Amino acid sequence: MSAAALEVVELYRFFRTGDEEIRALRGVSVRVEPGEFVAVAGPSGSGKSTLLACIAGLDEPAGGSVHIGGERMSNRPEPERARIRGRSLGVLLQSGNLLGHLDVTENVRLAQHLAGGRRRAHAEELLGRLGLAGRRHALPDQLSGGETARAGLAVALAADPVAVVADEPTGELDSAAEAQVLALLRERTDEGGAVLVVTHSATVMAEADRTVRLLDGKVTE
Ligand code: ADP
Ligand code: MG
Repeated sequence: MSAAALEVVELYRFFRTGDEEIRALRGVSVRVEPGEFVAVAGPSGSGKSTLLACIAGLDEPAGGSVHIGGERMSNRPEPERARIRGRSLGVLLQSGNLLGHLDVTENVRLAQHLAGGRRRAHAEELLGRLGLAGRRHALPDQLSGGETARAGLAVALAADPVAVVADEPTGELDSAAEAQVLALLRERTDEGGAVLVVTHSATVMAEADRTVRLLDGKVTE
């Protein structure tokens, strides 16, 4: 059987604050095939961002495993996680996707460089498709909210990753910009990439092939 693009098995993550233990993830399993677009929905505090951080290898689960394109991401040293992340994963967080001292094009090129130069997505073309051609030499702090979100997406897509994970990528966007972002994510799945998007947007869920619902750190459907 060929590997899933993204496979999360029985993931657990707990946080301790004082004497309270918050069980953010309680045995979450999600599998996303190449070419599949999956939405993750759930109320605030249900564990969506924690799940994404564990998938991206930015956080370490207490138990369970994450594989990206058949390669284990979880339970290994950060330099190895960073290598897998750079090569195989596009990550779009709610903020902090751009390096402040690099302009938009340089941010995209850096992501391509970190992927090892095997991938050939063209920074200029990608920025054009995201409506950022005129902003390609802007620094991150010169961008509007919508431009920042789209530039972050350009970085996430820069290296044609095996899987893209995004935390509310259209939360700050008007419906035209949301449609643009969705079209690009759909294009990525048409090319065989996998997409996992945390969202509250009915438009995003309608575009997705299916929606996984989280409640109190568990998948409910
Ligand atoms: P969501 O993204 O669905 O809103 P989160 O994954 O951010 O949910 O959070 C899930 C639960 O874990 C919440 O109760 C949240 O308060 C808690 N949590 C998340 N990160 C931390 C942290 N670093 N320290 C303590 N508690 C945390
Ligand atoms: Mg969140």
